[in-house]
Amino acid sequence: MTQEQTVKKYKFKAEIKQLLDILVHSLYTSREIFLRELISNASDALDKTRFELTRGAKIADKDLPLEIRITFDEKKNIVTVSDSGIGMTRDELISNIGTIAKSGSADFIKTLSENKSDANNIIGKFGVGFYSVFMAAQEVVIKSKSYLKDEAAVEWRSDGLGSYELFELKEKMSRGTVIEIHLKEDAKEFADKYRLEGIVKKYSNFISFPIYVGDSRINTVSAVWREPKSAVKKEQYDEFYKFLTYEEEEPLSVIHSSVDAPIQFYSLMFVPQKSFDMFRFTREDYGLDLYVRKVLIQHKSRDILPEYLSFVRGVVDSEDLPLNISRETLQENVIFTKISNTVTSQVLSHLIKLAKEDADKYKLFWKEHGKYFKLGYTDFTNQEKFMQLLRFSSSAGENADALISLEDYAGRMKEGQKEIYYASGTSREAIDLDPHLEIFRNKGIEVLYLYDPIDEFVISSIRKFKDFEFKTVDSVDIKALDKFKETKERERPEPLSKDDEKHFDSMLSRIKDILGERIKEVKASDRLIDSPSCLVNPDDAYSAQMQKLFRMHNQEVGNQQKIFEVNKDHRLIRNLLKIYKTNAKDEYIGDAVEQLYESALLLEGNLLDPHKLVNRISKMLESSSEWYVRTKDLG
Ligand code: ADP
Ligand code: MG
Repeated sequence: MTQEQTVKKYKFKAEIKQLLDILVHSLYTSREIFLRELISNASDALDKTRFELTRGAKIADKDLPLEIRITFDEKKNIVTVSDSGIGMTRDELISNIGTIAKSGSADFIKTLSENKSDANNIIGKFGVGFYSVFMAAQEVVIKSKSYLKDEAAVEWRSDGLGSYELFELKEKMSRGTVIEIHLKEDAKEFADKYRLEGIVKKYSNFISFPIYVGDSRINTVSAVWREPKSAVKKEQYDEFYKFLTYEEEEPLSVIHSSVDAPIQFYSLMFVPQKSFDMFRFTREDYGLDLYVRKVLIQHKSRDILPEYLSFVRGVVDSEDLPLNISRETLQENVIFTKISNTVTSQVLSHLIKLAKEDADKYKLFWKEHGKYFKLGYTDFTNQEKFMQLLRFSSSAGENADALISLEDYAGRMKEGQKEIYYASGTSREAIDLDPHLEIFRNKGIEVLYLYDPIDEFVISSIRKFKDFEFKTVDSVDIKALDKFKETKERERPEPLSKDDEKHFDSMLSRIKDILGERIKEVKASDRLIDSPSCLVNPDDAYSAQMQKLFRMHNQEVGNQQKIFEVNKDHRLIRNLLKIYKTNAKDEYIGDAVEQLYESALLLEGNLLDPHKLVNRISKMLESSSEWYVRTKDLG
């Protein structure tokens, strides 16, 4: 061979040998990423060529189209990746391919040597640059011709074991690089059109240069997110959204932005019309796709947006992150953290704008995604924005569908009102029946209606809106409401005589005796209008809703002693007083008090065992039926 004299053999540097050892001797599920790495290198080389062309440099084969071609030979088990990029000279081959890449590979080796057991996993997460090709190749041949006219074409070949050979090519070659991958026995799968197309689509769909597998161009969707907002039509957004999510509907809302300083990145995000129902969508399966200069680095990265924004779909494309970055190093990366914070804030600001400009759309958003969104009560950094976005049903709304913001509530507060009042229950109907609301209704004070158990967590976590603290209607100190006038005149019976007042007080002690340790105290009520009695939460007890939640999670909360309030003006109570006056020990009083107490617990949802209540009702119905028969003269 005439080439014999010019062929030179080089040994790989120690750290590359170490890297190659790992790559060659492992079996990996994710070795397909080698193609992503080669395509990204080709794309970089083409970018540089375009740059040289636009600055008018004299370059070899200047009319060659800028593109990437992948061919395969099923018989010989060879895959070839070629580009018409900037190429490499002999010296460049030595320094670029023969030395370890500054970015990922060094990190990779470090991580791997710390987690020996987990090679497979780690390789999948890392880009390991050019060398990843040896996961699939038993031999690699690079032929390259630099864009510099006077440079000769060179060939590099290696089995990835310890050394490589390098020599000048005698035959002519046009500008660019051809990488011939001689597949390993167990990697033959890659010499296949569909396999190759699939990998290109998965990782390299948005590379700006055409990528061909055989004769067909694969990457036809452009990286819309990198185009200026003003140049993108709605149809393009819709098309991209459908491509990304496999959804049929268009998105509810689009968030598209590019940030230049201090870091440069593009984001294109979508709020879907529908929340992903649990059958199609596990909580694990969410996140934005992370690109670095149009190359997919992480599919559905859960590290960009917080979980409560997991309904958002889309892509983030960074100009500054290294291509070879692992999930582990991402989280510590300052650039990435900045991107993540900015993107989160972009989503929240967008929603605030949407709420202002298109209330109906925002309502749709809330209906579909509000349930997850509310989990954002844990995001203290963005609490200000989060609170602006919350929506509640309220006593002022026409129906359960009408929603208000905290701002709306604050705007309608009564003069001198210092607290935001709320009531919890399973439905509007249920809350409307809550005796604690009677006084609020009568005084025309608005009350937020919370239907969702999480709402109470949200409220106890944010604690305040502006300067106003949240207060449940069942723990409100009724004196705080004294300053607000009643809007409706109450129909009150004759006030009790002095004498009856004394009997009434004594009856209250009797009631306390009946209920014993189950309650903290008995009081005449100022808050009740239509109901005979209710339970009021002292400040030191858990609210009824919280008690219920704790119990749902099998946590014992102990006896939360409440205050039993009695409506002195109520007919039932007045009748009890009559009975009491005749016989303080009358059994009926005991039954009635137990019944009122258990009914109050039942309304709260905290009556653990309804048997006694049901028996008592039967007994009372039975005696009232006798009374009915008698008064109607039926018997
Ligand atoms: P990285 O891309 O992070 O620099 P790689 O290991 O992927 O690391 O590539 C090492 C270097 O080899 C590249 O920086 C580039 O200079 C050179 N190179 C690789 N592939 C090509 C190519 N197709 N054309 C020109 N240069 C290339
Ligand atoms: Mg690379």
